[in-house]
Amino acid sequence: MSVFDNPNAQKFYIGGSWVATADASDIIVVDNPNTGAELAHVPAGTLADTDAAIAAARSAFAAWSQTAPAARADLLDAIGAEMDRRRADLIDAVCAEMGCPRHLTERFHVAIGIGIWGKTAQTVRDFPWDRQMGGAQVLREPLGVVGVLTPWNGPVTSVAKKLAAVLGAGCTAVSKPSEHTPFSAILVAEAIEAAGVPAGVVNMVQGYGATVGAHIVAHKDVDAITLTGSVGAGVAISRAGASNLKRMCLELGGKSANIILDDDGFAGAVKTGTIATMLNTGQVCFAPTRMLVPRHRAAEAEAIAKAVADGLKVGPADAEGVMMGPLVSAEQYERVGDYIRIGQNEARLVAGGPGRPEGLKSGHFVRPTVFADVTNDMRIAREEIFGPVLSILTYDDLDQAVEIANDSPFGLAAHISGQDSAQVASLARRLRAGSVYVNGATMSFDAPFGGYKMSGQGREHGEMGLEEFLETKSIVGL
Ligand code: NAD
Repeated sequence: MSVFDNPNAQKFYIGGSWVATADASDIIVVDNPNTGAELAHVPAGTLADTDAAIAAARSAFAAWSQTAPAARADLLDAIGAEMDRRRADLIDAVCAEMGCPRHLTERFHVAIGIGIWGKTAQTVRDFPWDRQMGGAQVLREPLGVVGVLTPWNGPVTSVAKKLAAVLGAGCTAVSKPSEHTPFSAILVAEAIEAAGVPAGVVNMVQGYGATVGAHIVAHKDVDAITLTGSVGAGVAISRAGASNLKRMCLELGGKSANIILDDDGFAGAVKTGTIATMLNTGQVCFAPTRMLVPRHRAAEAEAIAKAVADGLKVGPADAEGVMMGPLVSAEQYERVGDYIRIGQNEARLVAGGPGRPEGLKSGHFVRPTVFADVTNDMRIAREEIFGPVLSILTYDDLDQAVEIANDSPFGLAAHISGQDSAQVASLARRLRAGSVYVNGATMSFDAPFGGYKMSGQGREHGEMGLEEFLETKSIVGL
């Protein structure tokens, strides 16, 4: 049985059981982005389904919040093992619902989504739950019921890392996966059930942001929201969740600068930066989409970036040698195409362009695209495109490079390539971004991850990721 014929895909996981929706009249049709044709469908949750999931999470909180952290850590390990048993199904689900090439799906989506449980388990074991501060005993305690809202671009990793932190903290969850990628999320819920997590601790309802998502955010019995998504959703959720002062952890968009220094590593850094921009078809929040190069090396950067972009094989997830799959949806295809046309008016097209790559007649495929002569006031330099589109900008000196890098509404990440470690370290301190990746380094699941400015608030991963879901109690005079 494939994950798409799985009977649980037609149900929601509420209170420890797979239950039918209260009203089956609305469905979510999920596309296969490799073909553009319908893949399968799931029920669209209703407000009644959402209420039932929130009630189950609220009722499970009393007992779950009193469990010992070590016991919770053991359960997280068990979920990781159950995820591992579903590795092949998870890969099939992501290849079909998102279109990411199989070898990259295995490495970036599924292996990380499995590994995050064990990593979080260790964080829970090592965490200082009780501390002495002066004369006071300071306790960290579970916050309550958490609404978990996730996007489609990391469908396994985002659901897994949020649920691992929520559960590890001793909180209970109502999860609403992206409407574009429900199937991999169902496998995560099945792994949680198989690991023996008590009924009601994790609940999952499929549905749209405007209905199920908004109801979770507005609900008085939900104490916190963790969202990974767009800035628009982050702002809307912040407003809607204010009525009961919900705690918000918001992981939003980015437009990360990539400062490449003028040294012997230049050519390799341009190549790595171009590949990183195209990875996951550019649907990566911390992708280095604004490449900053010394003005006198612009032509060299262009030539290298063009060669990389032209050489990337684009095609369906299961095609031989494919490095870039389709965008997730017809909507994203239109959106990215619009930005490429905007770029043609604003800057100079070096590689790619609008439309599908040659030979691909259907599916949401776009061409790896590079623009040169980009200045930081252009829309393609200021707005998140969320597609495989690289902008090359120039700088005259490092002060100007820092100024351009920081002149952005976003502050999720920045990238620097250079061989002089002292110079790189000093630049890293001047950048207004939540993470700085040096010489092609990528996300660390041990270090906090999150944004400055419009890229969000709060942090994921490790100790700080756990703290998002904890209250602090001081007992004085004991
Ligand atoms: P999105 O904002 O459209 O949706 C994210 C989730 O929120 C979905 O489950 C959606 O249904 C739900 N949602 C949307 N509006 C809502 C509302 N008003 N109330 C409640 N729920 C709502 O984002 P997307 O298109 O799924 O994902 C792409 C975006 O995510 C990009 O902007 C990308 O940069 C961002 N992202 C950020 C990170 C990060 O860690 N900072 C990681 C991955 C993706």
